[in-house]
Amino acid sequence: MSTQSLAGGLVDGFGRMATDLRVSLTDRCNLRCTYCMPEEGLDWLAKPELLTGEEISRLVRIAVTRLGVTEVRFTGGEPLLRREILDIVSEAAALDPRPTLSVTTNGIGLARIAGALVTAGLDRVNVSLDTLDPVRFKAMTRRDRHADVLAGLAAAVDAGLGPVKVNTVLMRGVNDDEAPALLAWCLERGYELRFIEQMPLDAQHGWDRAEMITAGEILESLRAEFRLDAEDARGSNPAERWLVDGGPGTVGVIASVTRPFCGACDRTRLTADGQIRNCLFAREESDLRSALRGGAGDAEIAERWRAAMRTKKAGAGIDAPTFLQPDRPMSAIGG
Ligand code: SAM
Ligand code: SF4
Repeated sequence: MSTQSLAGGLVDGFGRMATDLRVSLTDRCNLRCTYCMPEEGLDWLAKPELLTGEEISRLVRIAVTRLGVTEVRFTGGEPLLRREILDIVSEAAALDPRPTLSVTTNGIGLARIAGALVTAGLDRVNVSLDTLDPVRFKAMTRRDRHADVLAGLAAAVDAGLGPVKVNTVLMRGVNDDEAPALLAWCLERGYELRFIEQMPLDAQHGWDRAEMITAGEILESLRAEFRLDAEDARGSNPAERWLVDGGPGTVGVIASVTRPFCGACDRTRLTADGQIRNCLFAREESDLRSALRGGAGDAEIAERWRAAMRTKKAGAGIDAPTFLQPDRPMSAIGG
């Protein structure tokens, strides 16, 4: 629990307190991962709809200094496409109390900017990589950029952003045979691998429960080659972790569909156009951009944010027959 009093923090009706803020810097992307976006891309948000760098920094400041947020992760879309990222990170790093700052990126362009991100105050980075095979990478992302991602990963470690986490989504018949090879490759390089179950958040609505690779299947394929020992309870960390072959290396699995962690969720989300979402799967959003641009003061914005979080549902229920996919895809919400 943060030192923020419950009354001042982002507390919902079930007593959960959100201290981890995900900020989407843009809905745009330079890849077209098949489980995320259609080949032709999406109708991107128009520039006037996007929060400016200053507006983002102001909201991050309100979250950290008034609402008890202790961790801020910048995501998207592809966050490295946003030119103001260095300013946004350095403003956040100057806050008191200083939040932990991280970025989730597809790794393209990371080789160029990793050092500057560290100088700005970034603490950690998660890089998404689904395959070790450049041909498969091209098929999965519809872009021939595998080498850029590998270069980005190596540069992140050199810049001091380690331990770097690698996020992997497995798709049946596409890359589901690669789990052990990816783990061996990550262990060799000191990257922390985490598999993410594919979720119904793609713009094309192509997700199929029967087709997704479950955490159970991932663990079974890893256990054919490694000894896995469960680590301690995961708390609010969505990744369940296992020590690999006695450690120190670990592997994580984020089983959002088959083993949801909603009961311990500590997240609040800000979209690139200034909407608060109290859950990745929420069907409602609360508009902070209008308040910002209408001249609201910090106290009023903080109160609107608290109100948005109060109505957070107990769980997302992805595996329930009644589940409805949110209107916006993952790339627009901020994954
Ligand atoms: N573009 C950046 C990247 O790919 O890391 C940040 C945004 S992306 C939406 C964040 C994470 O969400 C990535 O690790 C990606 O693999 C994952 N992701 C995207 N669509 C997903 C889906 N339908 N199910 C599960 N994970 C997904
Ligand atoms: Fe872009 Fe990330 Fe979506 Fe891939 S998962 S299309 S890299 S936003």
